[in-house]
Amino acid sequence: MIVVLKPTYACNFACKYCYLSNDTKSFYQSSLEFIIKVLLQVKEVLRPQDKRVTTFLWHGGEPLLWGYDNYKAVFEFVEKEFEGYNYKHSVQTNLSLINKDFIELFKRFNVRLSFSLDGTQEIHDLQRVDKSGSPTFNPLVCITLLGFCFIIESRFGVFASLTAFPSSLSLIPQPSSIASITNFLSIFLSPSFLS
Ligand code: SF4
Repeated sequence: MIVVLKPTYACNFACKYCYLSNDTKSFYQSSLEFIIKVLLQVKEVLRPQDKRVTTFLWHGGEPLLWGYDNYKAVFEFVEKEFEGYNYKHSVQTNLSLINKDFIELFKRFNVRLSFSLDGTQEIHDLQRVDKSGSPTFNPLVCITLLGFCFIIESRFGVFASLTAFPSSLSLIPQPSSIASITNFLSIFLSPSFLS
C-alpha cells in the first residue's frame, strides 16, 4: 500500500507543466499534529504481521518546504509507533532544498528519494523555472549531485520522473549512460509525455 502524504502544496518552483505552479492558494502547510493524526488513522487499517510493505510517500508541492524539524519529529514518531510494521518512507522532491541535515536524516531513517530529471539544461530551463521565472537548472544540478552522492553511498535505488516533449526526446540521456556515469546500481525512469 502507498500512503501519499502531502504536508504542503507549496513549491519554490513554478514548472510550466505543473498544475500547482499557478495556484496561489497552494501555500497551505499541515501541522505536525494533523499529520500524526492521519498516521494514527492509517495505523488502524494496517497489521504488524502483514508482509506487504506500506510506503509513506511524502509528496507536495515541494515536500521539503515542510521543514527539517517536522520530518525529524514525524520520522521519530513513525519509528516508535509503527515498530514491528513493514513500512518505508519515500520523498518526492525537486532536490533544491536538500542539505546535509536532510541527508543525515534520510540516511538515519532509510528514506528513499524520488526526484524529477527533465534532461539537459536547455530542456530543463524551458519548463522548470522558479516563481520569478528564472531558470532552475544550475542549482538543481549542484544539489542533485549532492543527492547522488548520498544515494550512491546508501546504495539506494534511484527513482526519477522525467517530463518529455516532442522537441526534447532526442536530447534525453539514455538510462544506461546515466548509470555508467553515476555508478548507480540501478536506475528507473518513468517518462511522462506531454504534447
Ligand atoms: S517542482 Fe514539482 S511541485 Fe514544484 S512546480 Fe515543479 S512540478 Fe510542480
